Amino acid sequence: MRAWQLTDTKGIGSYALNEVDEPEPGPGEVRVKISHSALNHLDLWVAQGLPAPKHLPHIGGADGAGVIDAVGEGVSGFDIGDEVIIDPSLSCGSCAFCRNDEIVYCDSFQILGEHRPGTFTEKIVIPTINAVRKPGSMPWEVAGSFGLVTATALRMMERAGLKPEQTLLVVGVGGGVSAAAALLGIAMRTRVYVTSRSQGKIDWAIDQGAAGGFDSEGDFGAEMAALGGADVVIDNVGPATIRQSMRAVKKGGRIAICGSTSGPKMELTLPTLFFRQLELIGSSMANHGQFARATTWIGTVGARAPVSKVFDFDALPQALEYLENEEQVGKVALRHPE
Ligand SMILES: [Zn+2]
Repeated sequence: MRAWQLTDTKGIGSYALNEVDEPEPGPGEVRVKISHSALNHLDLWVAQGLPAPKHLPHIGGADGAGVIDAVGEGVSGFDIGDEVIIDPSLSCGSCAFCRNDEIVYCDSFQILGEHRPGTFTEKIVIPTINAVRKPGSMPWEVAGSFGLVTATALRMMERAGLKPEQTLLVVGVGGGVSAAAALLGIAMRTRVYVTSRSQGKIDWAIDQGAAGGFDSEGDFGAEMAALGGADVVIDNVGPATIRQSMRAVKKGGRIAICGSTSGPKMELTLPTLFFRQLELIGSSMANHGQFARATTWIGTVGARAPVSKVFDFDALPQALEYLENEEQVGKVALRHPE
């Protein structure tokens, strides 16, 4: 079988389509023949060595869905032919955090495609806890692409205590997790506002059901405050927008952060933080329960999970270039060989 392997960490050009051995499932594992996978910015960063894979060559890709074609010893509940979505979060399974489904705090927490061989392959072996049943009506390109961003967004919203009828502001709605947060917020019947530097992306969010949008580079803090302020702000942009986000949020409100696309360090005006009694919440990835709930939001409740473009498996480098250009909103998926 073939897999896209990073042979170096010099960017997209370091991915090579190689012939590799078919993996065999061990005890408690299943093998999935992947129908569709999808790209995340993580795949661009890992290709640049940020972070560098532990072993080269390394198979990238965190998202995927497919059909079980082999089961290991002792597996119950799954059979050959079952359609599953791959939850990319791996952990030790036995520490106190893992037993409480707080796997994101496990010392051995890992992500497929970053620390372990990922989904840009024809077949992958995963523990059964990482196999989530695909809702029958969910299209394959959606099943293979919503997982990482939607589960990550859902965890942020759960941690921030967002409730129906409240106001959610999503800063920089073009990002993958941010777009997923806006779409989940709309499905949860919160009032969603967005910011972007692109009027096209603001228009996209309004088309999806957002109440309005602001220019990320403008005075969106005051604009949001004039509309009553936000109960929760999701800001994965960071230093470039945090001042405005702290003005946009209501007193006692929460700002959740799972990334910082404008740089790793920022200056905080602490009196704004304490006089306005704000909470800053860091978040990263999601637990298995959150992945399962994200699947329910997309598969059963009908939250949208748009796929902007599907590339053939052989065209991964072109798909990564398309992702890097950031003109799309929605996921970039790969259709694997039948
Ligand atoms: Zn653990």
